[in-house]
Amino acid sequence: MIYCKVDFDSEQIIELVESGDPHFRKIASKAIVDAFHAYSSLFFNYISSDQITADLAKFANQRFIFLVAGFEEASLFPDKERYSCFSELFVEYSLFFIKLKEYINQGGTDGHRLLKTLYATFPGIRPDLRSYYPSYPLSVEPRNDSKSQLMVFITGNCNLDCPYCFSNTLERKEMSLADFETILRWARKNGIKRVTLCGGEPTLHTQFNKILSLTGSYGFTTYFASNLTTDCSSFDAFNHKIIDLIYIHITKPVLIKPLLRERFISHVLYAKQLGIKLAYRVNIPDVSIGIDDWLDIMGETGITALNIALTFPSGDKKNQYVKVDDFARYAGLVSSIIEKGYRKGLQLLFAKPIPLCLFDKEMQRRLASNTNFLPVCGTHHRNFTHNVCIYPDLSIRPCLGVTGSVIRFDEYISWQTIEDFCTDVIRPLLRKPLFDACTDCFLYDRKLCQGSCLSYKKKP
Ligand code: SF4
Ligand code: SF4
Repeated sequence: MIYCKVDFDSEQIIELVESGDPHFRKIASKAIVDAFHAYSSLFFNYISSDQITADLAKFANQRFIFLVAGFEEASLFPDKERYSCFSELFVEYSLFFIKLKEYINQGGTDGHRLLKTLYATFPGIRPDLRSYYPSYPLSVEPRNDSKSQLMVFITGNCNLDCPYCFSNTLERKEMSLADFETILRWARKNGIKRVTLCGGEPTLHTQFNKILSLTGSYGFTTYFASNLTTDCSSFDAFNHKIIDLIYIHITKPVLIKPLLRERFISHVLYAKQLGIKLAYRVNIPDVSIGIDDWLDIMGETGITALNIALTFPSGDKKNQYVKVDDFARYAGLVSSIIEKGYRKGLQLLFAKPIPLCLFDKEMQRRLASNTNFLPVCGTHHRNFTHNVCIYPDLSIRPCLGVTGSVIRFDEYISWQTIEDFCTDVIRPLLRKPLFDACTDCFLYDRKLCQGSCLSYKKKP
């Protein structure tokens, strides 16, 4: 990949860029990034010129994964010469900075402007730029995006009994409407933007319509995961104004019971007809799972987004889940899902981190060029509160996979207390290596792989 074939000469690339045609500019941007060793000067010229910045950034993020932000600031490499794992990405990293140094030393374009653009566009290399170029003032406005989302477990009840579900052993009781409204009132006072619903099967809350309408009346929208085997057509609040998105679980009973499958399809089509955004989610409990059955359902309902995950352990580890030692056995299955999915034009995403080191080199390269497959979950976002949840018993946990530590919700708790709690629990787990090999892995040092869902990791 480092010395990719050069299809155009520099004059032709410049002509394509100067043409102003968006299609030609894309071709030029891709050619520059693909043959970066030859066109690094063009890359650095154009990245801060505004002409093709967005296209170049897109292709560069795909090729140089280290440009992308991980779960925290990347480590620098003062003593490293090579890595055992993902060493070729380390070589590309080194090439990128050698070329940048050459370019700046040759006095090409305004050095400060270039560094500022790189700093703003590629959060993954901010620590490197600050360290290599200490005399240039580099900073970005901190994003004030905390407090955006709160997940509420409204019920532990479910009509199915999937042995792999993380809520499988959750107490079968539901949150009272009074408690739910207290949470909404608190959430509004604390500047939360979206309240998401979780279960069990959320649509089975005995007052689900009221839950939705209350959510809307407090000015929130919501999303939730559902098996959609229940009929929501009588709920007037089941609509796209309140529901941003439903992740529809394709469950085994739906695949093996024709009548249930029929009902499920009709519920999916009903939600689709209401204009609610829909994506499928499949939990992979064993290697014998039949991919074609899901693909048939996706084709029949015309929904192309598919999130996949290996089943992960619940807090008490009593559900059926894929053990870390078994991960490697699933690499072939996951690769074939990706192959088939791409052939059918699906938008695929890993809903839980799956280590890229399990795959063959070719697949590693493909996965590493797509942030949908980055082995990092969103739990570090928003000061580690991105997936914070409140259970029916009003206990607060950092996310649905990290349930061992708890604080209690009441209407006087401050958001800062919740942030501090989540940070203390999540940060050490993110930093903990999953395998011994991680400590000699480029992705680990760049904070681009957390190994697995944190439910596998115990407190260090
Ligand atoms: S740690 Fe696991 S359950 Fe928690 S947000 Fe990440 S992937 Fe999801
Ligand atoms: S950090 Fe560890 S789990 Fe992730 S790819 Fe590297 S070796 Fe594999």
